[in-house]
Amino acid sequence: MGRVFLEHLGGVRLINCAQCQVNLTNRNQLLSTRFTGATGRAYLFKRVVNLTFSNIQERVMLTGRHMVRDVMCKNCNVKLGWMYEYATEEAQKYKEGRVILEYALINEAEGYPNESGSSSH
Ligand SMILES: [Zn+2]
Repeated sequence: MGRVFLEHLGGVRLINCAQCQVNLTNRNQLLSTRFTGATGRAYLFKRVVNLTFSNIQERVMLTGRHMVRDVMCKNCNVKLGWMYEYATEEAQKYKEGRVILEYALINEAEGYPNESGSSSH
């Protein structure tokens, strides 16, 4: 009951929840730092784990109409940003399925180098 299963993406530069330090993603998943959220600067990531999602809602942004879901930390339930479910503008389609995390709500931490080989860093 109420058991939370958490994942860990690994990587050298980890992005964690600022409130509970659970791992969310890493620097390799970062697509863009040029976004703005409710608290200011926000980052767009390709893949983020350990999230729960709100229902779909329609939001009109500077870049057009989007269907989005708010995303919350699976561990501590704090709101972290949102995910783009659907974009109506062709130029914004690359954001579909991608996740925005507000910079003020996340932490960057040193990760653990991959011990099993590939030293691509
Ligand atoms: Zn958290």
